[in-house]
Amino acid sequence: MIEQTRRFVSNLWAGILDIVYPPHCLVCKKFGDLYLCRNCVEQIPIIKPPYCRVCGINVGPTEHICGECRKREYKFECARCASVYDGVLRQAIHALKYEFHIVMADPLAEIMIRAFPNTYLARRVDLVVPVPIHITKLVDRGFNQSEELAWRLCAAVGLPLANDILVKRRKTKPQVDLPEDLRFANVEGTFSVAQPERIVGKRVLVIDDVFTTGATLSEAAKTLRAAGASSVCAYALARSVY
Ligand SMILES: [Zn+2]
Ligand SMILES: [Zn+2]
Repeated sequence: MIEQTRRFVSNLWAGILDIVYPPHCLVCKKFGDLYLCRNCVEQIPIIKPPYCRVCGINVGPTEHICGECRKREYKFECARCASVYDGVLRQAIHALKYEFHIVMADPLAEIMIRAFPNTYLARRVDLVVPVPIHITKLVDRGFNQSEELAWRLCAAVGLPLANDILVKRRKTKPQVDLPEDLRFANVEGTFSVAQPERIVGKRVLVIDDVFTTGATLSEAAKTLRAAGASSVCAYALARSVY
């Protein structure tokens, strides 16, 4: 109910904004009906195979695992990303996350929905779980961007969403402010699982907006596996090479 109320308020706010501030593309600023215009969307390429077996970024035909993933060991079974964190997509995610433009969630989720069939993830999922943010950040931002992407994806592809199972119990420094070697330690022990009985034996798909070192997704997978999930894969909107 709280979730429905939050979505209602968010949609109402977007409607009011439409009246006082006519829609325009938040990336190229061109006026029109869309917050991310078609021209900008066309500049966001979907990652094509061959994929890195671990993170899903495009690799050469004989490479199998990308250079970044060769350096690390993750707790998730596999990850896939819709596109690359660069150019238009980077600006669009920035508008959502740091300028709080919730209206960006629709076109960004659309990219994840469009890329989803190529990822082969649908065959290995019982339940979709967004990466949670700490309650203080939720109050600041007004929404959790991963959850906004996750529920739209679930509605489009017909997968069940569980947005109250994985909980962020400890506030952490923003990963983006930390060097690579400190990112795994920063998120260690940060999540817990509420109602573990709902994930026991289930194949879980964790959703995040950006995959950089994979530290957050790996920690989420570790927590979910420890609570009984039979497998954990991850799907992110954008792969950022650190
Ligand atoms: Zn544009
Ligand atoms: Zn990789």
